[in-house]
Amino acid sequence: MFDPEAVKRDFPIFEHHEGLVFLDSAASSQKPRAVTEAMTRYYEHDHANVHRGAYGLSMRATEAYETARRQMARFLGAEADEVVFVRNATEALNLVAYAWGLEHLRDGDEVLVTEMEHHANLVPWQLVAARTGARIKAVPLTAEGRLDLDAFEALLSERTRVLAVTQMSNVLGTVNPVAELAAAARERGALVVVDGAQAAPHLPVRVRELNADFYALSGHKMLGPTGAGVLWGRREALADLPPFLGGGSMIEEVTIERSTYAPPPQRFEAGTPAIAEAIGLGAAADYLMRLGMENVWAHDRALLEYALERLAEVPDLHLYGPRGADRGGVIAFNLGRLHPHDLATALDERGVAVRTGHHCAQPLHRRLGVAATARASFYVYNTPTDVDRLVEALLEARKFFADWL
Ligand code: PMP
Repeated sequence: MFDPEAVKRDFPIFEHHEGLVFLDSAASSQKPRAVTEAMTRYYEHDHANVHRGAYGLSMRATEAYETARRQMARFLGAEADEVVFVRNATEALNLVAYAWGLEHLRDGDEVLVTEMEHHANLVPWQLVAARTGARIKAVPLTAEGRLDLDAFEALLSERTRVLAVTQMSNVLGTVNPVAELAAAARERGALVVVDGAQAAPHLPVRVRELNADFYALSGHKMLGPTGAGVLWGRREALADLPPFLGGGSMIEEVTIERSTYAPPPQRFEAGTPAIAEAIGLGAAADYLMRLGMENVWAHDRALLEYALERLAEVPDLHLYGPRGADRGGVIAFNLGRLHPHDLATALDERGVAVRTGHHCAQPLHRRLGVAATARASFYVYNTPTDVDRLVEALLEARKFFADWL
């Protein structure tokens, strides 16, 4: 297990904001020096456009970019040619929804999502469904905040063409049994698309073991920079996927009338990519692999259990999400009838950063019966002291707002 205090020293943000208790990594994580230095080094030593360059510098840039692809492949337990660099999970999911959905979905087909999906794994399917006549169905949740597996079985049918499911909820922290869900969906011939935006930063992911066709992640939630994410695709699934964006770099041969396309992953990387960002993401994956993803998960789990125990000391605090080993380090909560924005402002005055709102999961909040929640989320640089500070700040806020509870 790593020492989170030592890890914290790798993150300059904490030197610039002394005493900061950062509990918003589910929205975007902080960055270690290893990431920002890799990007600066690239810009100062190696920058040129990638691919096609006949000169040394372009070859160095290409090598650095392709090294990042191999680092991400290793992180995911995949092959490099199955790793497509995109901007973020949102773009990865749109890519699949548009490229696969517009080609294959027909009137009456069904796309099965879940009630806990982030809008990024819902709205793209709605957009494509509106154009194709497909319908969206959602797996409901149990009272504890898990997927209702009986309902899932009942919803699966020969009409189900896509299962689009998150591996981990960004609100409840629930980790879904993706491999089992995916196996059942694939048995009926459905395409399986997994939103790994929250899971990939926190738990060991071997994409092949998930029985999925596609897996989406955002680099900025896993210590990498904004602007770089990954779409992983099973080799056969990627090979069958038509292009999403057209332009330079993704073609084989172009005439005025038509074009043929490069094999994956280039087919899906039209235009000049975010080279430095991909390199930063590769450095982030390396940093996490050095910590060990098993250790990252164990650390998150330990902090979560400690936090759940300590938060029980705060009267009027309502916590959402399941209790059990299938839960990551995310805690959504409300304090009495206090608006979560007011609560978050009070916490911020005490140096504790949490996020509030619907967290891009409005159907889930509707299911929970609230418009918004406050959310604390943990990562490698958080410590039990951060949890103590959160609890103290909540107790103080409760006193301050006593008349509004
Ligand atoms: N899915 C989940 C589960 C998320 O938590 C997020 C980010 N909040 C996304 C998708 C979208 O990530 P991004 O905004 O980086 O595309």
